[in-house]
Amino acid sequence: MKIAKLLITLTLVVTLAACSTGSKVTKTDVLVIGGGGAGLVAAITAAESGKNVILVEKMTAVGGNTIISATGITASDTYLHTESGISFTKEDHFKRTMDTSKNLANPELVNILVNSSADAIQWLADLGLNLKVRSDKEPFWLVPVEGHYGSQLIGVLINKANQFKNLEIRTKTKALELLVEDGKVVGAVVEGADGKYEIKSNSVVLATGGLNNNPEMIAEYNAKYANVNTEMTTPGATGDGILMALAVNANLVDMEYFQIRPLAINGDWYNESIVNAEGVSGILVNFQGERFVNETLAPKALASEILKTSEHSAYAVFDQLVAETAAGKKFVEKGKAFTANTIAELATLMSIDAAVLEKTINDYNEGIDPFGRTVLGKIIQAPYYAVITKPSNHYTMGGVEVDANAQVIDKDGNPIKGLYAAGEVIGGLYGDGRVAGNNTLDDVVFGKLAGSNAAK
Ligand code: ADP
Repeated sequence: MKIAKLLITLTLVVTLAACSTGSKVTKTDVLVIGGGGAGLVAAITAAESGKNVILVEKMTAVGGNTIISATGITASDTYLHTESGISFTKEDHFKRTMDTSKNLANPELVNILVNSSADAIQWLADLGLNLKVRSDKEPFWLVPVEGHYGSQLIGVLINKANQFKNLEIRTKTKALELLVEDGKVVGAVVEGADGKYEIKSNSVVLATGGLNNNPEMIAEYNAKYANVNTEMTTPGATGDGILMALAVNANLVDMEYFQIRPLAINGDWYNESIVNAEGVSGILVNFQGERFVNETLAPKALASEILKTSEHSAYAVFDQLVAETAAGKKFVEKGKAFTANTIAELATLMSIDAAVLEKTINDYNEGIDPFGRTVLGKIIQAPYYAVITKPSNHYTMGGVEVDANAQVIDKDGNPIKGLYAAGEVIGGLYGDGRVAGNNTLDDVVFGKLAGSNAAK
């Protein structure tokens, strides 16, 4: 009788324990967390070595912010450079990356990025991504021969991933925390449609992207960007990987650095020349119709001034001459500009007192400027335009520290056993400034490193 009671109690305890993390426990060799560019590359690479791989992605589909990458990828000394006769050497690439980072990037990691770029481009070409050197003025950019870059990149990666029977992608499955046994990361607790469960693995690759969709967390690391908007990110970039890594004592680097664009709306950013060029240029006004800032401040400083307004946003106001520039045209179209033939009509569309906006623009046209702007333009040629701008985070520079094996480093400087990372979740590559296009290159280069080392 006693034994029967004990058995019932034990069964109850085991059942309850299973329920607290769901009933399903899965085992695999490599668990990849996050299905953007870096996660897909890591999963493909680990699968190529014959290991069993599970990739968990919390959203309904893979792609992350990688899929919205608009322009292209940066690389040096590639076969495309040779074929086109347009030169961008490894030395150019290294220097440009370090200079743009204000020499804050980790040269060891930058060297890996640069030295692996030609192979990365060849690998993507073999997967079917059709690129060309953009121009001799921008020889660092490799852009699609036609079509949208990010969607094509994710497209070829999904096609490749689907070829492996030993690679399973679980969407709508969010990793909640890393599992650690005897100082080694051995999987993660995840939550899918059926609840929470554990995935046990020999190693884990964190590829969860940045914090672009987590303004509170951004403000914790840099108060200047408090209340930053989220116009330029997909929803999944909420810093989960940083928090999971912190919980296992990972070291973070460069967390105060973000790439913030002052002119952003509707999923894109716009050139600041719209409000700061000499001669042909508009202004920024608050929602009361008054100027509040020197629009020629550096982009990040300008963004943080706009964020201080009560709406954390502003209107860019400009005339037909600005609207005719390439940057202006894109802003009018994608920003869904208000357009009017007089400033008074424009003010009405903006729900602003016409007299206030007229005075603001007259003062500007007469060179009256209390904000120290030395280079002024004019707003004189009808029709007139107004577009709301919501300064937004474009890229998270900081993240978990990794070594040359893409292995995560702890706060004492030691590699964390079983834990690798790649993509926007890692820090150390960009310091205070990122060369456009280096980010999807790092997805490939560090995704491969993380995937192959995690599979060893
Ligand atoms: P990267 O360029 O580094 O690959 P992306 O933003 O393209 O970055 O991709 C990161 C992916 O990770 C996104 O698809 C995001 O939804 C996913 N992700 C973020 N946090 C989690 C999590 N906790 N569990 C599973 N997937 C996650």
